[in-house]
Amino acid sequence: MKNHSFSARDYDFVEYVQANNWIGGEWTPSASGRTDEVFNPRHGKVMGTVVISNASDVEAAFQAAKAALPAWKGLPIRERAQILYRVKQLMEENLDELCWLLSHENGKTIDQARGSVLKGIECIEMGASCQNMADGGQLDVSRGVNCRVTHEALGVVAGIVPFNFPTMVPLWMIPQALVAGNTFILKPSEKVPFGSMRLAELFKQAGLPDGVLNIVNGSRDAVEAIVDHEGIKAVAFVGSTPVAKLLYERGAKTGKKMLCLGGAKNHLVVVPDADQALTASNVVASYAGCAGQRCMAASVLLAVGNVEHIINDIAERSARLSVTDEVGAIVSLESRDRILHYINQAEAEGATILVDGRKPDVEGDGWWVGATIIDNVKPGMACHTDEIFGPVISIIRVNTLDEALDIENASPYGNAACIYTQSGHVAERALERFEAGMCGVNVGVPVPREPFAFGGWNDSKFGHGDMTGMDGFFFWTRPRKVTSKWAVQSDQTWMS
Ligand code: NAD
Repeated sequence: MKNHSFSARDYDFVEYVQANNWIGGEWTPSASGRTDEVFNPRHGKVMGTVVISNASDVEAAFQAAKAALPAWKGLPIRERAQILYRVKQLMEENLDELCWLLSHENGKTIDQARGSVLKGIECIEMGASCQNMADGGQLDVSRGVNCRVTHEALGVVAGIVPFNFPTMVPLWMIPQALVAGNTFILKPSEKVPFGSMRLAELFKQAGLPDGVLNIVNGSRDAVEAIVDHEGIKAVAFVGSTPVAKLLYERGAKTGKKMLCLGGAKNHLVVVPDADQALTASNVVASYAGCAGQRCMAASVLLAVGNVEHIINDIAERSARLSVTDEVGAIVSLESRDRILHYINQAEAEGATILVDGRKPDVEGDGWWVGATIIDNVKPGMACHTDEIFGPVISIIRVNTLDEALDIENASPYGNAACIYTQSGHVAERALERFEAGMCGVNVGVPVPREPFAFGGWNDSKFGHGDMTGMDGFFFWTRPRKVTSKWAVQSDQTWMS
């Protein structure tokens, strides 16, 4: 098989290939005959194409996954884990290539691309360690009677992922699903199909049998065919809240396990005793890093009391950020225009644009927005309630911690929340009250590292349990409870 290795090692534009479907270990065109363009956001130019699959492509992937299932499931977990060790090694050997490919298709800076690929490798390590952590419990529940629990594969399962972390988010799912003995169908974002393509090739190079991992590219038709498919036993989804909610309800009707992570509007609370430099640098990295296109990005700053010195520091650092080198590109023209619309609307409604990134000084046709701070925002304004998904933070000024927590609690989302303070009891009070699944103290992006699981609350997640960590392993398995009685009482045996 010819690999689609990616040659670029800088930001200069290069053309790439067509992302076909990966079925049974072979690149296969879609039965639909449809394709879409894939853009390099830094240049605003088409770098390749992607097939837009239909239900018959999903069926072909399902048949390949079903055929591969008995042999894969039949391997001891330790043998399945060995493949993950080899994938980790191959990802490390090909790290530069994976990072540059990600930067080209998604628009991230190379440093941010590297960070996300490294986090993907950490997810592979977690998947490989499940073999040592997935012990079943067992107990002699009475004389001669033993109960035990084992975690069994579900069968053919699937993952549907967003554009913003093309390599990492698939790796939130694939390692645990495969090590547990399932076979997998991945539906990448049609905006960034290439990272998954190279991953599939590395899995094959690592010795993964054909059909264990399959990729169906495309958009809504392919997603609906996956979610409606009676033979697919579980689907994990990561993307925006409206789609997450819709698919959660739709999939549950077929009786499959669904875990759907949605969007976010993460609030940070800053109180007067916060460390100025630590807070300012963290807040800026959180809201402007990855051009704000991450579900863990800060998007609302609740400024409690007099924190003017910290806001000034945040503004100065933001104004110094280099668009292109530190703030990456926006994934599409449509997203860029949506972000600008929110800033314009906030200004029209009376908010102050403290740092204005609407007209960054960048040549070429790429899609850029510089770091932007909207100050004097009132609760309920669109820039406060809606997920903007760009390098934009809205500041709401309040007098007390309780006022700040009330505003945070009223958001329908619940992905992340953070407090900046040097006082233990202030931090504890915020942690008790935050309506969010992932919370931080003096940390702008409180992503739980492996083996801790990832997942929000409220409208940021539909379904039970979390993704990644051991929760991921439990999502992709079902518990079997076995009660056995081997030692028969002596007065009842044929020997007595
Ligand atoms: P999206 O919801 O538009 O797309 C996600 C996936 O769903 C893609 O594969 C896409 O092809 C598919 N899709 C889109 N519309 C669909 C529809 N109507 N029916 C069926 N399938 C559909 O999300 P996106 O723009 O790719 O990613 C950004 C969003 O993802 C943001 O809201 C962000 O907060 C969220 N996100 C959440 C997490 C998390 O862990 N909670 C992580 C990353 C991203």
